[in-house]
Amino acid sequence: MAFPYMEAVVGFMMLKYIFETYLDLRQHAALKLPTSLPKTLEGVISQTYLEKCRAYSIDKSNFHFVKQFVTIIMDSATLLFGVLPWIWKKSGVVLESTGVDAENEIYHTLTFLAGAMIWSQITDLPFYLYSTFVIEERYGINKQTVWLFIKDMIKGMMLAIIIGPPVVAAIILIVQKGGPYLAIYLWGFMFVLSLVTMTIYPVLIAPLYNKLTPLPEGELRARIETLASSLNFPLKKLFVVDESTRSTCSNAYLYGFYKNKRIVLYDNLIQKCKNVEEVVAVVAHELGHWKLNHTVYLFVAFQVLIILLFGGYALVKNSKDLFMSFGFDSQPTLIGLMLYMQTIIPVLPLIIFGHNFVRRAFEFQADAFAKKLGYSKPLGDSLVKQEGNLSGLNADPWYSAYHYSHPTLVERLAALDEPHNKAD
Ligand code: ZN
Repeated sequence: MAFPYMEAVVGFMMLKYIFETYLDLRQHAALKLPTSLPKTLEGVISQTYLEKCRAYSIDKSNFHFVKQFVTIIMDSATLLFGVLPWIWKKSGVVLESTGVDAENEIYHTLTFLAGAMIWSQITDLPFYLYSTFVIEERYGINKQTVWLFIKDMIKGMMLAIIIGPPVVAAIILIVQKGGPYLAIYLWGFMFVLSLVTMTIYPVLIAPLYNKLTPLPEGELRARIETLASSLNFPLKKLFVVDESTRSTCSNAYLYGFYKNKRIVLYDNLIQKCKNVEEVVAVVAHELGHWKLNHTVYLFVAFQVLIILLFGGYALVKNSKDLFMSFGFDSQPTLIGLMLYMQTIIPVLPLIIFGHNFVRRAFEFQADAFAKKLGYSKPLGDSLVKQEGNLSGLNADPWYSAYHYSHPTLVERLAALDEPHNKAD
């Protein structure tokens, strides 16, 4: 008897939905509890502001329930009613009508992906619009205009049209010619692709969305340069990015390979921090991630995961049962990959939890690093000013263990306040 892959996938999707909704309900209940300011925050933020943050989180939570419910219904229906094989057939018909040979798998796949992209745009768009232009707008958090949103969407589609076809064609060719080492070849391709992306992203893609300008000479620049050189960080360029056009999020990040590093500060960060010291403290935290090789560890772990994933794919890629179960009578390469990705749903929660568990440990370590350099106080002050951090005041422990990539504000402030470093 053929293994009922599709029914199993729908079943696991439901289980994952039930599990995550249970966590959402726990978090929702935690949000409804009255919050009193923890001692570390007394006098730092007002009760009124705290209440506003809580109201925002509850609004978002309500919205999330609706979104997840509609999504699970749509996703199950897409599989149960064979929407994907239908789009595959239709794209073949469209291709034939334009005179292109639908037997050509690459063209057929690209047409299918265009159809699937339109389908997912239609289903995701209403949620995105409501979340950004209704909920965030209500609390004055949204900085994005409708025009900017449309421009971003067009740019995203253009990028997909330029980058998608060569990548898809390469994957199909590798799978067709891969032989016994298919998983290694696919991983090698993805590895090179990610290096290329990391190289061209800041130069070609990020500037399409944001303006990066060099941080002007002055105290801030001098302080960051001194800090970087004291840690032997090969700082080549120091930028400010105009993130304030999209959100109120304030942050900083590092990028670049080996001896060619750059630091990028969000303009929001500079505006919100009341003194230079606080901005430098955030940079010190980021430099901690670099000094402690966090990015390298995460990158390596990700590569191992990719090899395992492709290894599993190589095992099932020719399984007729897999395709038939989802309603396909042919076995196109990319469809096989997509269906396989559905079958790994049961392990996803473990990966999410493991990833966040490690990320939170890294955050504590980077904070401890900044603390050792003497930035405990200004780092704490800047953390308080980062919106979103405040929602963690009502965090349910189960929910945050599963979803949070950062420890909560209270946990981080407590660790910064401790007289002795655990890391010492
Ligand atoms: Zn961090």
